[in-house]
Amino acid sequence: MLYAQVVLPLAQPMYSFSLDEKLAVEVGDAVIVQFGSSRYYTGIVWSISTERPDYPRLKPILKKLYSRPLLTPATQRLWEWIADYYLATLGEVMRLALPSLAKPSATSLGELDERSIEPPTEEFIALSNELQTEEQLLAYREKHARRAPRRVETIERIASLAIERNAEDGFIPRRLVDLDSQHLAALRTKGLIRNQRRPRERLTPDTESNFLLPTLTPHQQQALEAIRLAHDSGKVALLHGVTGSGKTEIYIHLIAEQLAAGNDVMVLVPEIVITSQLIERLERIFEGRTTTYHSRLTPLRRGREFLRLAASSGGELIVGVRSTIFLPMQRPGLIIVDEEHDAGYKQSDYQPRYNARDCAVVMSRIYGAKVLLGSATPSLESYTNALTGKYGYAELKERWGNGVLPEVIISDTLRALKRGERRTHFNLDLIKRINEALEQNEQVILFQNRRGYAPYIQCRTCGYSPRCPHCNVTLTQHKSSSRLECHYCGYTTESSNVCPNCQTQDMKAMGFGTEKVEEEVSRMFPAARITRLDGDTSQSERSFKRIVTSFEQHECDILVGTQIVSKGFDFEGVSTVGILNADNLLSAPDFRATERSFQLLTQVAGRAGRHNNRGRVVIQTSQPEHPVIRYVASADYHGMARTELAERRAFGYPPYSHLIRFMLRHSDYELLRLAAHTIARELRSRFAHRVMGPVSSTLEMLRGEHRAEILLKIESGASMKAAREKIKEVLHVARNDKKIKSVTISTDVDTW
Ligand code: ADP
Ligand code: ZN
Repeated sequence: MLYAQVVLPLAQPMYSFSLDEKLAVEVGDAVIVQFGSSRYYTGIVWSISTERPDYPRLKPILKKLYSRPLLTPATQRLWEWIADYYLATLGEVMRLALPSLAKPSATSLGELDERSIEPPTEEFIALSNELQTEEQLLAYREKHARRAPRRVETIERIASLAIERNAEDGFIPRRLVDLDSQHLAALRTKGLIRNQRRPRERLTPDTESNFLLPTLTPHQQQALEAIRLAHDSGKVALLHGVTGSGKTEIYIHLIAEQLAAGNDVMVLVPEIVITSQLIERLERIFEGRTTTYHSRLTPLRRGREFLRLAASSGGELIVGVRSTIFLPMQRPGLIIVDEEHDAGYKQSDYQPRYNARDCAVVMSRIYGAKVLLGSATPSLESYTNALTGKYGYAELKERWGNGVLPEVIISDTLRALKRGERRTHFNLDLIKRINEALEQNEQVILFQNRRGYAPYIQCRTCGYSPRCPHCNVTLTQHKSSSRLECHYCGYTTESSNVCPNCQTQDMKAMGFGTEKVEEEVSRMFPAARITRLDGDTSQSERSFKRIVTSFEQHECDILVGTQIVSKGFDFEGVSTVGILNADNLLSAPDFRATERSFQLLTQVAGRAGRHNNRGRVVIQTSQPEHPVIRYVASADYHGMARTELAERRAFGYPPYSHLIRFMLRHSDYELLRLAAHTIARELRSRFAHRVMGPVSSTLEMLRGEHRAEILLKIESGASMKAAREKIKEVLHVARNDKKIKSVTISTDVDTW
């Protein structure tokens, strides 16, 4: 009898099961086990041994799910790293990493069978054993060429495809041969060919010359060489290229190389709808080979893609969001993380709270894959790694072709107000530029980082502003629906003129969101066609695409939007970009505020004048002398980084430390306080001054629960492993303390 350690999709460590040798189960296999009295789960066999674990009643593994293991040994190491580093369990990693249909669970075995899916298959054909050698084929031709020319032709085509494709057992996908069912049946009855269903396969191998690659400019060529050099010495490479410099062209060359060698490539993007343009470009070149993976696919599709990749023979190009890192790679070649600075790579809602960019870097070691991080505004973490030589570094300082970076105009809102040069939320500076653009039949993007009409409404008599009863944040006014909405939990209520506090009819909209900007713009530019792109107007991928396409095809003149508009778009007609209020970015209560404002403003500005004429960007702010604004205006990333890194060093923030956040929640405020103080005390006894808090969270109450936070700073260079051990002790203490164990405690390593 054998014994297996199995990971189940529960927030638990591993469980032991007995394993019948006849099942031929291997490490990495998905298996079905019974857990509890009436529950069946899919588990992953983590290890197998002949030694009986010290546990009296072991249940058996019931069956094996797929013919190939779901996890490679490298994927197992990745899961282990993620669980360990992010203080999660392997079960939590499994829950997230495997699509639901690839890991069915049920209350009975019968139900489970119904839920199980198979990897997608296709028909393969091979010539019979009597048609294997050159002589046999020639003899066949001699004999039948006259009477059955089509049959001879088909047979020779199958023979040559089998050689071309290096098919070891002679089987090739039927779709490669023009073969209707009648013809196929005839060949079969004559015993000339055999057929079989097998997992669907990509058409590999290719040669690089099969792809139509863009010709690189000398600068791009240099950057490519620098990246290759880094990869050859086993380093991660960082490609720092201004917006429009042609980073994608460099990706394309690297991808082609890997695919031609039969290796797998992953391209990670921060958000799928935003990067549909990138996907289309890749699809145009690597036609029919790209697999996209994201949460909007149907569960069946996700499950099938996963299983197909688990059985693939390599040469796959997978494009997707952060969870793509969990897809099987049989021949890992290259992982590209586009817009590597983007917060979208960090999973922050539940465990494991991983950062896909950082996982990719770890994968370079575990998988032996090359890793390329790309950005116009690299994260300070990656930039520091490039400065210290840990990563290779390549820079593209210029836009491709005749493109030049836009001219940045800083427009002082307070001064404009004093001089009477402001209309609602627009300085005359900006209005003038919009007018000029419209006159030239050019397009305009206006950016405001809040959606809705007004971020809050306030009574002008008593000062009261309605707040969410569950989350204690101000409610945002949405005029189109005439409702107030909580942007944290979705709670909505009627918006009214009458103050709920003093009953006066004096409620006024304060601040402004995209909806209000849209309204003001249409009043000021009545002839212009205006559209809005934000979380409210682009809830479905379809509405998102419709808005983007209509703007792309110049069916509208002005696009008003939130940060969605900052990301990766390449709109030919845009000459002018307006940033309505940079202040709320600059003053965000966050140690990353400077870095993020620089990134966001630079990315938004990057949408202007990407093609022919030089674009213009107007930034409205009450702090025109703010260093970030200056750095954006002079496109001085290095200057921003130098200043900001000095600050981070002085205060011991990342990249000079790792920040670990402890989040506590409970409906009983006193109990929560007790728990927070207990944990803080336990942490302080181990980490001394590195502990900050507890504080009530910025949103003290969220969805009806009270929340508190504690932050822990671990200096870079100190052992994270030792720190994790101590943290586990503290969590153990808290979870076994009778009084406070009902308090929910979560951890977020490298919190964003
Ligand atoms: P980035 O990803 O750095 O923002 P892109 O790759 O989108 O830049 O390039 C910007 C524009 O310039 C695109 O329209 C792209 O097609 C064009 N371009 C860049 N490099 C080349 C090249 N070597 N050959 C042809 N077109 C290029
Ligand atoms: Zn709420």
